[in-house]
Amino acid sequence: MTDIFSYGKITPEIISELEHKIGAHNVSADAEKLESYSHDEVPANSYEREYRAALLVFPESTEHVSEIMKTASRERIPVTPRGAGTGLSGGALPVHGGIVMSFEKMNRILEIDEANLTVTTEPGVVTAEISRAAAARGLLYAGDPCSGDASFIGGNIAENAGGNKVIKYGATGAQVLALECVLADGSVTRFGGKRRKDVTGLDFVHLLCGSEGVLAVVTKAVLKLMPMPRFAVDLLAAFPDAKTAIDFVPQIIKEGGLIPASIEFIDKKALQVVARYLSTEVPAGDAGAALIIQLEDNEQDAIERQYEEIGKLSQKHGASEVYVADTRSTKERVWQARKNVPEAVASAYKRYTKEDLVVPTANVPQLLELLNGTAEADGLEAIVYGHAGDGNMHCTIISPDCADWHERLHKAQVEIYEKLLKMGGTLSGEHGIGYKRRGYMKYFIDEAQLELIKRVKLAFDPQNILNPGKIVDWGDR
Ligand SMILES: Cc1cc2nc3c(=O)[nH]c(=O)nc-3n(C[C@H](O)[C@H](O)[C@H](O)COP(=O)(O)OP(=O)(O)OC[C@H]3O[C@@H](n4cnc5c(N)ncnc54)[C@H](O)[C@@H]3O)c2cc1C
Repeated sequence: MTDIFSYGKITPEIISELEHKIGAHNVSADAEKLESYSHDEVPANSYEREYRAALLVFPESTEHVSEIMKTASRERIPVTPRGAGTGLSGGALPVHGGIVMSFEKMNRILEIDEANLTVTTEPGVVTAEISRAAAARGLLYAGDPCSGDASFIGGNIAENAGGNKVIKYGATGAQVLALECVLADGSVTRFGGKRRKDVTGLDFVHLLCGSEGVLAVVTKAVLKLMPMPRFAVDLLAAFPDAKTAIDFVPQIIKEGGLIPASIEFIDKKALQVVARYLSTEVPAGDAGAALIIQLEDNEQDAIERQYEEIGKLSQKHGASEVYVADTRSTKERVWQARKNVPEAVASAYKRYTKEDLVVPTANVPQLLELLNGTAEADGLEAIVYGHAGDGNMHCTIISPDCADWHERLHKAQVEIYEKLLKMGGTLSGEHGIGYKRRGYMKYFIDEAQLELIKRVKLAFDPQNILNPGKIVDWGDR
């Protein structure tokens, strides 16, 4: 039987062939560049060894991608698609070397179709640029990851990225109507269309959203747009402690009778770390915890009524103060605190694991207790923030500086995962499995389903050349 992890090497002949096909300026074996394109935002010290691509390619078109894949397929060379490298799962890590395919030159918004409310883009467009282009026409693109100023839409699709507006609009996958893809053998195919309904064949569009670049390479996407709500207000409610803040979340919907666009949570340590990182006073910076609640409406009166109501409710449920941000600069100030937490934590600590756990929303209080309780019992530190409205908590578990820090974090992770499963939770809500989490899939997904994932992968990519070694533990090292 062929070893599915046995690959061909990049040779001078292959480099010349690719230079001929896509232009020498779009091929690089420069050592410094190879280093910087061979990781994402997972710290290198999370892994036992370094992983390095042997060649970088920068396609400018679908045809280029197709030609690269034809060569890779003939020579059995692994290809790792790469967006902006902001991933938090090691998804863009070239664990079997070979080619890293960066989409930074496929960065055009191809069309905004106002009649059908769609935007068609190449995969290397920065997420926030899509939002800005839509907003310029009074339209909303609802995908809104905190990394949106840097991440690419191709990376968002591959990770089914979530973000700040999932509670109201759904994750990236909910915005995707159609995909153009290059398959592992270089053939080009299209899934879906500008249609709002489609049950013709299997729903490949939504199988591909979140497939982490292991099934096909996305070369174009058609995304949904909608009318931009005319008014939006952000409330920042300061609470004495995390429990009081989290207990308030379901009341926003139940008692308040509305679905906000966002409900974000920041715990006390996260507020402190981000204030230090930004070297500035952040709103609610000395609170025990904070919630950011974004409200949207088309009527000025209605939005005023809503924020007054939610403001009063939050005080009834223990908020000590409520800030209302209704101008661009006050809104930026409120979101600056939340959006900078991941960077702030990464710059303050060196030995940590960033978790992306998700539970049914009613179980968030239990999840918070589990995270803080386990960290404390194991002599570790937990910083918790995230998308409270979706039940998706980002927890950074930090180890003291000691020789066995990997083992200590691993022990805490396993303790948490075993209990998480019992509360209906799972391993990743939006950051994906990639390489970092693949070994932990066995705690959440049974053997039959792990095998099914492998079979689906090999049905799309029988030679196992597209982003190999990801999502499940294949036993390759
Ligand atoms: C500060 C910070 C905040 C973040 N906030 C959020 C958040 O709120 N919500 C959230 O969901 N995530 C968040 N993330 C994680 C990350 O930004 C997302 O996972 C994002 O979708 C990754 O996009 P990227 O372009 O950087 O992809 P990369 O990291 O480059 O790649 C991610 C995966 O996509 C695959 N891929 C990339 N392009 C293609 C393509 N064209 N075809 C097929 N596969 C492809 C890669 O192979 C890889 O598996 C955050 C990260 C940081 C650093």
